[in-house]
Amino acid sequence: MGEFELIGRLAARVAAGAGVAVGIGDDAAVFADGLVASTDLLVEGVHFRRTTAALADIGWKALAVNLSDLAAMGATPRGALVGLTVGPGWSNDDLVTVYEGVGACAEAFRCPIVGGDVSRGPSLALAVTVLGHAAAPAPVLRSGARPGDVLVVSGALGGSEAGRHLLERDGATADVALALRHRRPVPRFDVAATLVGRASAMLDVSDGVASDARRLAEASGVRVVVDLDALPLQAGVADLARSLGRQPGAFAAVGGEDYELLATVPAGTVPSGMTAIGWIEGGAGVTFLGDGAAGGLSGWDHLA
Ligand SMILES: [Mg+2]
Repeated sequence: MGEFELIGRLAARVAAGAGVAVGIGDDAAVFADGLVASTDLLVEGVHFRRTTAALADIGWKALAVNLSDLAAMGATPRGALVGLTVGPGWSNDDLVTVYEGVGACAEAFRCPIVGGDVSRGPSLALAVTVLGHAAAPAPVLRSGARPGDVLVVSGALGGSEAGRHLLERDGATADVALALRHRRPVPRFDVAATLVGRASAMLDVSDGVASDARRLAEASGVRVVVDLDALPLQAGVADLARSLGRQPGAFAAVGGEDYELLATVPAGTVPSGMTAIGWIEGGAGVTFLGDGAAGGLSGWDHLA
């Protein structure tokens, strides 16, 4: 069973209560009074390894990926709760260093840590819940894309996946910019602020454009067309992809953890700092065009 199918089966067993404006299925939940909430897990051996992540980076990333989900709604952070399981081999000093990363990210994006819990477990895991304020006049959902809209993405893609490869191959000597992109993702609140009231749909690129475009298509009931040749690539990504025998656009589209924003806007208006990478049609699913599109693409599945 894949991650999407499992979430669907679990969601079917619980009811959305009164006062919930947006429930399971978007980047974050939104309550009728404007409270926004989201949660994400970071698990040793699945999302990071001690060999490729400095301890403070683990803490930074655990909060940053949650904040990215708030940014994807156009929401503003209010505070966060951090649940921690501690596996064998982690000292209290190690955990303090992990928390220095949490604190640095909290300070950078003005999201105070207001509670949490700690328990023994089979490995280190951080379960972070972030709370925020919904954007005014309305949060930007995944479900608003319409035929004729332009598909846009912020920043550059592929850097985190390239950084992960280089960290595993080269360790401490890995390309600094690409490694940093993997170790310290940055939630794009700056871009989100320009898209509230302008984008018809938005989500963050957590699992790769290939996977996240599919989520957009499903939520909006449309077909998403992605031109792999149009994807903006971070410097160094194309060379690394080719050295691995991969098409650069396809490499960037299936590589996760860039935490850029994928959005749809009315035709003719590409916001500054963003790149048009496709469009919306009537229909369903995702169609890939360009080099590397043959054979189909799929993004990261955390249960795979
Ligand atoms: Mg998300």
